[in-house]
Amino acid sequence: MLEIARCVALDHDPAMLLLAAVVCCIGAAALVQMLERARTAERAQRLGWLFLSSMAAGATIWCTHFVAMLSYTAHLPVALDPVLTIASLLIAILGSGIAFGVNGEGRQLSRSIAGGAILGLAISVMHFMGMQAYRVDGIVSWRPGYVAAAIAAAVLFSVAALAVLGREHDLRHRLKVGTVLLIAAVVALHFTAMTAMQVTVIELSSEPLASGDIQVLGIGTALVGMLVIAAGIAAALIDGRTRGNALRELQHMAMTDHLTGLPNRNCFNLEIETRLDHARAAGHRKALAVMDLVRFKDVNDLYGHSVGDAVMKAFAHRLSSALLPGEFVARLGGDEFVVVKGYDDDAQLTGLARRLEYLTAEPVRAEEVEALIRASIGISTFPDDATDASTLVANADLAMLRAKAEKSRRVCFYDLDTDNATRARQELAHDLRHALNGGTELAVHYQVQAAIPAMQVTGFEALVRWQHPKRGKISPEEFISVAEENGMILDLGEWVLRRACSDAAAWPHDAKVAVNLSPLQLLRSDLPGRIEQILATTGLPADRLEIELTESAIMSDRDQSLETLQKIRALGIGIALDDFGTGYSSLETLRIFPFDKIKLDRFFLAEITQSAQARAMVRAVVSLGRSLGMRVLAEGIEEEQQLRILEDEGCDEAQGYFLGRPALLAATRASPIRAEAKDAAAPSTAGVAVSA
Ligand code: C2E
Ligand code: CA
Ligand code: CA
Repeated sequence: MLEIARCVALDHDPAMLLLAAVVCCIGAAALVQMLERARTAERAQRLGWLFLSSMAAGATIWCTHFVAMLSYTAHLPVALDPVLTIASLLIAILGSGIAFGVNGEGRQLSRSIAGGAILGLAISVMHFMGMQAYRVDGIVSWRPGYVAAAIAAAVLFSVAALAVLGREHDLRHRLKVGTVLLIAAVVALHFTAMTAMQVTVIELSSEPLASGDIQVLGIGTALVGMLVIAAGIAAALIDGRTRGNALRELQHMAMTDHLTGLPNRNCFNLEIETRLDHARAAGHRKALAVMDLVRFKDVNDLYGHSVGDAVMKAFAHRLSSALLPGEFVARLGGDEFVVVKGYDDDAQLTGLARRLEYLTAEPVRAEEVEALIRASIGISTFPDDATDASTLVANADLAMLRAKAEKSRRVCFYDLDTDNATRARQELAHDLRHALNGGTELAVHYQVQAAIPAMQVTGFEALVRWQHPKRGKISPEEFISVAEENGMILDLGEWVLRRACSDAAAWPHDAKVAVNLSPLQLLRSDLPGRIEQILATTGLPADRLEIELTESAIMSDRDQSLETLQKIRALGIGIALDDFGTGYSSLETLRIFPFDKIKLDRFFLAEITQSAQARAMVRAVVSLGRSLGMRVLAEGIEEEQQLRILEDEGCDEAQGYFLGRPALLAATRASPIRAEAKDAAAPSTAGVAVSA
């Protein structure tokens, strides 16, 4: 070490040495940048970068060596062999090229070791070849120990440099350490190898180089080397700028709606978060308006999609032109827009509402078409209605849905009570969908129906039950309407039907099973086919199934309902008119539709013991049923006295808590229900008799 230090200190011209150091540092720093580009570039570009890197590496190594060598004061006349000198430069370039090629993207350590070893050897070969070109008039001898140490140092530092450049995660740190290690490889080799060289003076033989010439040569070499490196740096800069532009372009594309040029949903998501952060910090208020175009599909259907697009563009333009400074608009997709605005008082809020509403006052003109566009607008505010972005959006959506439902209003402000009810229904719908997708939350319970007066079991009504994981039992009164709102009733109804049929098929008796059908199910023209298929797969005979329908189910499309019900009837399935006496109670319906049974609503039974009118109603319905050939079943029997009256009035069947509550059907016995022994609160149908 000491000898190396002495060699550096005493045998070199300090100014030239400094020049060599500058070349080495700049060159190494530029080289790691280029290697980094090569690493991250695509295949074709990577080759280009590898070429530039090897040129820069060769130039750096060779120039550092050459200038440092020229700074070496052998205290003897010196000459240079041009062929060997140039050959050593080529070795440096070629060797580096091979080394970087082997190293590849630098992800595998084994490749970095191989590449680093080649680079270290290339530096070494270049050096010793360069020294061969350096002709001093003396006997040059080499100390093998130092030679070996020099090569080992070059190889080790090169391997370390490539390994760090390929693996270290922090980019800046990686480039810094890589640069230092590359410099170390070049410097360690040079000075250790120079220490290895010993010169014994003999006589002058060739034309020596004057020391002034040496300096000029050194500076010239350094300049040429720097030019090569500068070219590499320039290329890296240009590439960086191009990549930056491409990145910006890509970002712009990712943030913009292609059709309208407005910011898109991604952009909105970022923007709303930033704006709310600011508002939170500064104590400001923000309003979010969600705008949904009403029946924009009609424009597309009427004029075609290209006109639809043009109208949408024109509308987006109108919307963005109507904004005040500081307001932000985005298209969330389809026909949904949002506007974000900071505001101080309610006047500004209503101002925004009015402005947005006014946007749709005039038809939109595009491609010689005039389209009148309607929009439903919902507005929610920060921090009054919500303190985070997603709730703010959800609340504005709820208000917008209300605006859509209420035909008279186009703008609705979020209202806690009203919109919370909507939200609760949405959550229920979501949970119900989950329950329908499997699991044990849904079940079918059965409530007994019996003939009067023998109390012989005639059938069981299937009633769906939902055990919600958090809310516990939820009444079908609540969730059936939710399921009807979003069409889920079709799946739910079919599930109940299938379950009821397969349960009934397994009963040890042949009592009927009565299944409630929603109006929406009845609207399906393929309903008879589906029921037939369910009967076939469950093996339940058609005459053991009865469907229950309300009059309102029939009313939505009487002709279609009649056709469907006739087909169902033709299959041998029974049809019961449910909740009779509460709705239309139309005699016409009873006359035309093929009912087997009328179910008298439990409302009349509740009154029957006190009210003469209720009793008269029961009597009327019973006689009506008799003359039309339909059985009459009274629902809601809760006490024995009601049963006695029904018996007196000649009612055919009864159903109610007094006879049995809906329950999972346990084993049934084949003896008549002993009404007096019934406990109205008993939750099972044990004790119900079944006609064998
Ligand atoms: P619904 O068809 O009128 O069913 C009879 C309802 O009266 C049942 O309520 C039953 O538990 C209840 N009930 C029976 N006996 C008595 C009694 O003595 N006193 C009183 N106060 N109530 C009695 P549930 O099970 O809550 O069902 C309510 C409604 O939900 C049903 O009225 C029906 O419209 C609907 N529903 C139930 N299951 C289904 C289904 O699977 N599909 C369809 N579409 N609707 C169903
Ligand atoms: Ca029913
Ligand atoms: Ca009913």
